[in-house]
Amino acid sequence: MIPAGFVRLLSQADILSGAKAVADRLRPQIKPGATTFVAVLDGALFFLTDLIQELAMDVKVDFLRVSSYDGGETSGDLKLVSGLMSNVAGADVVLVDDILDSGKTLAFCTDYLKSRGAASVRGVVLLAKERPRLAAIEEPAVGFRIPDRFVIGYGLDWQGRYRHLREIFIKDAEKETPR
Ligand code: 5GP
Ligand code: MG
Repeated sequence: MIPAGFVRLLSQADILSGAKAVADRLRPQIKPGATTFVAVLDGALFFLTDLIQELAMDVKVDFLRVSSYDGGETSGDLKLVSGLMSNVAGADVVLVDDILDSGKTLAFCTDYLKSRGAASVRGVVLLAKERPRLAAIEEPAVGFRIPDRFVIGYGLDWQGRYRHLREIFIKDAEKETPR
C-alpha cells in the first residue's frame, strides 16, 4: 500500500542494510553492558530495534519523549514530555532518532543527556535530510541522506498515522509545496 501523494523511498531490505551499516560503524565505540542506547519516542522505536539487533551486543536501552511547543509561530522549541528511567551519569550514550531535519531535536536531547551527567553522547539517525541545520550539533552517524521532503513509514508518522509501514515513503516532489 502506497499512501496517496507519496512514492517509495526505501524498501525493507534497504532499511535493514542501512541499520546494519550504521551498527558496523558504531560497533568499535560500544562497551558491552555499559553503553546506553536512548531512543527518541515515538518515531525511533523501529530503528532502535533493528539497530541493536544488528549490533548484536549487550547494550542498555532507555527512552526520551519530546514534543514541539504548539504555540503558533515559535514552534520548533522543544519540551521534554518524558525523561529517562535509568541513571546515565558517567555513561556513554548513543542517542537514536529516526530522522535528522533541523537538528533541534538532537541538540535538545543531547543537552538533556549531558545535564544528566552522560560522559559522552553519540548521535545516530536512520535518515538525514539534505538541508542546513538550525542547531549546532555534531553530525550523527547517518544511514541514508535524503532530499528535504516529508517522509513516512517505519515509525515516521503523518498526523499519527503510517508508523506501522515496513517501508519508507517520501512525498512526491510534484505534490510538495515548497517550505
Ligand atoms: P528536527 O528537530 O531535526 O527538526 O526534526 C527531527 C524530528 O522531527 C524527528 O524526531 C521527527 O519526529 C520529526 N520529523 C522531521 N522530519 C520528518 C519527516 O519528514 N517525517 C516525519 N514523520 N517526521 C519528521
Ligand atoms: Mg521525533
